[in-house]
Amino acid sequence: MTIRTILKMGDPGLLRIAQPVTAFDTEALHFLVRDMFDTMRSVNGAGLAAPQIGEDLQLVIFGSAERNPRYPDRPLVPPTVLLNPVITPLGSEEEEDWEGCLSVPGLRGKVPRWSRIRYTGVDLHGDPIDRTVDGFHARVVQHECDHLVGKLYPMRVRDFTQFGFTEVLFPDISDAEE
Ligand code: ZN
Repeated sequence: MTIRTILKMGDPGLLRIAQPVTAFDTEALHFLVRDMFDTMRSVNGAGLAAPQIGEDLQLVIFGSAERNPRYPDRPLVPPTVLLNPVITPLGSEEEEDWEGCLSVPGLRGKVPRWSRIRYTGVDLHGDPIDRTVDGFHARVVQHECDHLVGKLYPMRVRDFTQFGFTEVLFPDISDAEE
């Protein structure tokens, strides 16, 4: 089990455009994904993108088999490893909801996202993934894939009265480990 250091906002590593993954099912990739799950779970993350641990690759993980204490009221998203993702919005509807980020510890902001998306890409073995999702699942995927193009959620906040410290906004939710 290896818990990697998560880069925090301000680190230029979080602002890069990530490189596509070209070799699948390699030992290095399996180790990296295992480290990412260990790291994400150690801080109760809903997702993690490779650039957040300093790996310049189009690779994100998200979801969990159990309810996430940082997002206790959100539906379960299946554990997923997604490489070289492409997101297509379905329709023009957006919705705003609260997000946090392991690279922006202790804060939450209300962020607009596409309500419904199709996302494609491949898994760790290079097999295709093609899903149509909405709501929280769609939000998590958009948040994680933003990390692959150097975007952090505060860059998408439109109303900064809806941005602040988790402990003030949501006293019942513990972000203490972030
Ligand atoms: Zn994030």
